[in-house]
Amino acid sequence: MKLFSRLRGRCYCAFCKAERKVYVKKHIDLTNVVGAVLLAMAVGQAYWGAPDPRALVIFCLTIVTLEVFVYMRWRSSIICNLCGFDPLVYKRSPERASQLVQAFYKEQHNNLEFWLSRSPLVERRRQVRAQERKVSGQREMLARVDARRAKSAAALPPSKSP
Ligand SMILES: [Zn+2]
Repeated sequence: MKLFSRLRGRCYCAFCKAERKVYVKKHIDLTNVVGAVLLAMAVGQAYWGAPDPRALVIFCLTIVTLEVFVYMRWRSSIICNLCGFDPLVYKRSPERASQLVQAFYKEQHNNLEFWLSRSPLVERRRQVRAQERKVSGQREMLARVDARRAKSAAALPPSKSP
């Protein structure tokens, strides 16, 4: 157990490659244990008026609560808030991670703030839309060319067979 561990850090999402801040502290450190001891001693002193073994229960509850809080904070911070990618789920099941990203995308579909964010999914959607517009523009142009050809073919006098 370290005396003091770093709380936050920066990382890149493995799916969307966006840089973001995460909590890197996964477990409690020695500083938290010392804090829990001091808290238990202070509460024991204030409640019972003397050092009491019942303060050990307060110490244990504080340690468990801190560990759960620190772990849950770490766990929720590693999920990318720009694409919904969860690396822990991906390690266990890549298909499940894919479903979660799709669900995140569907969930954010009507969220205006998401469309104004710097999420790479927004950029990908723009690229797909631009590609669709390009393809439909080419189809329209081909349809117009075909219509002109048909018109000019109809305007020509029928060819006489020799
Ligand atoms: Zn991401």
